[in-house]
Amino acid sequence: MKSSTGKAVCPYCGVGCVIRATVQDNKITKISADDDVAPNFGMLCPKGAHLKQVFQNHDGRLAYPMIRERKGETPRQVSWEQAIAFTANRLQEIRLEHGKDALALYGSGQLDTETSYIFNKLFKGFLRTNNIDTNSRLCMSSAVVGYMQAFGSDGPPTCYDDIQYADVFLIIGANMAANHPVLFQMIRKRRASEPNARIIAVDPRRTQTAEFSDVHVPLAPGSDVAFLQLIAKRLLAIGRVDRRFVQRNTENFSAYKNHLESLDEDTLLSICDIHPGRINEIVEFLSKPSNRLLTFYCQGTNQSTSGVDKNVALINLHLQLGEVGIRGAGPFSLTGQPNAMGGREVGYLSHQLPGYRVVTNDMHRAYLEGAWRIPPGSIDPEPGLTAVPMFEAAEAGDVRALWIVCTNPAVSMPDTKVSQAGLKRADFVIVQDCYYPTETAEYADVLLPAAQWGEKRGTMTNSERLVVRSDKFLDPPGEAKPDWWIFSQIAKVMGFKRDFDFHNHEEIWDEYRLLTAGTPCDQMGMTNERLEKTSLRWPCPNPRHPGTLRRYTRRKFFTESGKAQFKTPVYQPPDENTDSEFPFGLTTGRVASQWHTRTRTGKVPQLTRKDPEPFVEIHPDDASENEVEDGEWIYLVGRRGRCYARARVTDTIRRGLLFTPFHWGDLFHAETNVNYVTNSAFDPVSKQPELKFCAVRIEVDDVSKKRNW
Ligand code: SF4
Repeated sequence: MKSSTGKAVCPYCGVGCVIRATVQDNKITKISADDDVAPNFGMLCPKGAHLKQVFQNHDGRLAYPMIRERKGETPRQVSWEQAIAFTANRLQEIRLEHGKDALALYGSGQLDTETSYIFNKLFKGFLRTNNIDTNSRLCMSSAVVGYMQAFGSDGPPTCYDDIQYADVFLIIGANMAANHPVLFQMIRKRRASEPNARIIAVDPRRTQTAEFSDVHVPLAPGSDVAFLQLIAKRLLAIGRVDRRFVQRNTENFSAYKNHLESLDEDTLLSICDIHPGRINEIVEFLSKPSNRLLTFYCQGTNQSTSGVDKNVALINLHLQLGEVGIRGAGPFSLTGQPNAMGGREVGYLSHQLPGYRVVTNDMHRAYLEGAWRIPPGSIDPEPGLTAVPMFEAAEAGDVRALWIVCTNPAVSMPDTKVSQAGLKRADFVIVQDCYYPTETAEYADVLLPAAQWGEKRGTMTNSERLVVRSDKFLDPPGEAKPDWWIFSQIAKVMGFKRDFDFHNHEEIWDEYRLLTAGTPCDQMGMTNERLEKTSLRWPCPNPRHPGTLRRYTRRKFFTESGKAQFKTPVYQPPDENTDSEFPFGLTTGRVASQWHTRTRTGKVPQLTRKDPEPFVEIHPDDASENEVEDGEWIYLVGRRGRCYARARVTDTIRRGLLFTPFHWGDLFHAETNVNYVTNSAFDPVSKQPELKFCAVRIEVDDVSKKRNW
């Protein structure tokens, strides 16, 4: 029997590994990675390597369009024509009756760039509402603002190639060994080959990343700003400032310096609750001007009510050392999802427009209105609802139609009862997904089946700005279709035929690519023909341009003055305090073998074996004081709700802090979703919620002690 092969970006983390699939009779027979193909050069982690098992059958796939006539009923299969007409008509009815802002869309960093572009165009340009947000708001929005404030543009200055030239790896708020494993392997290779290289892991937990590091800083949760300022202050005191870089290429250094000098070192140490010896070691590594600093960071810094300040403090340190735009150095924000970068480039957050433009800028709106051939004034100058307020508005009855694409907010939103209440209250809920059932699908009035990984062609950008084209090498189940097709059909029935008459994803890519010309994320030179043959990093302004490994090498930033900006953040504690009623801090995150709400990885026995059920890490002294035994089921009770998980007694976590992963939802078992407990308070600028910290107490559950799933 004849077999074929195809390549595609791994659908999991933002490392963006390129995977080769060998296929026979519409079944994957082998998953591999080519040694000579960037960015992973032959490496895959277990999640990517086990993709074959995800596709062994179509169990759990949404394969046909379905409509639920009345809430609570079993949905019935319909034709695509019926589903599209039903969806388009209901959206128009709600828009006419309640106004444009009664519509909202909540998408995902797992959608390809073409899809994210088309729904952004439909909503912001043609339905005239900016009520679009995505789960990237929960992951990356603080990093976006941090880059914007410092450099005047989103997007990292760095690339993976920098790993082989860096001397000091500062990994803060990122468990890379578990969540970006292939990238962490590259760091370990560099550490093994360069005797002077050092890895510093900053995390309240002794994670797998910390185990492999030279220094672990188990700082108090949320104290990152104080920690970074302490390092910067100590370096400043010994004159470790790149004065030439600072003078020529930055602004506001004096205010920054004065602020650092005004801070009391003992106070900073006590906020971080760490031994001064750890700080001394780090300062010693960084004191040598020849040591290049590469900082990786992710949700630990971003998911916070002071997420922007944490990002800014981290970039400040790099500006002080002059370690931006040079080989082997820079602040490198990691993306959690495979195309969170591409989504940001097309502007799929509620304040953005394609090409890193923003709705609040008159010229940006006017440019897009011209390009999209819509009347001046069509694009609303006010940002739309971000993730948390979107579901709150649905619960309040202000948002009437919710379109949920490729994400599962009935599990993943902080304070999930609110998102569930919003989904329940909304007049019309569209769920467009590859999987069924999901917790969110329970609320759907219409279910639109989407093709998934390997079943469609499309483009994605990974954490290092590498734009990669994926092949189609499998037929989707039943009548599932690419997401871009679904959006274009509904847009056409809504009356926008001329502007959404796309026949393939290449046409959408070409339209989008042209809009990036001259912008910081210029992809003009990435023609369909080139992307078929190779992957390219932006900026890539013309078809002969080789792409750009690292940005800002000429020290020209996108701020008004062209100079990078120092800011002076002030440490703020997390939004929620522990007290006598809720004495423990709770932090959440991922495990290496699972992904988001387990719609995919939950079906792979090789991945579910290690962590088959929700667990909570607790320090032995805390366990003993609270009479918790290892393996026992315990409730975590917070100010908004409760969940339960199996106790894992371990000294890898600080006293007073608990950790539990966020992968399990109600379909696994009622009350196992930790987001019933988490806090939806968000950063005032980035609007990113504080999923990393809330206050809880422990209750031992005698009945569930005997529970066996
Ligand atoms: Fe996929 Fe990330 Fe693993 Fe690479 S490191 S195979 S992108 S999950």
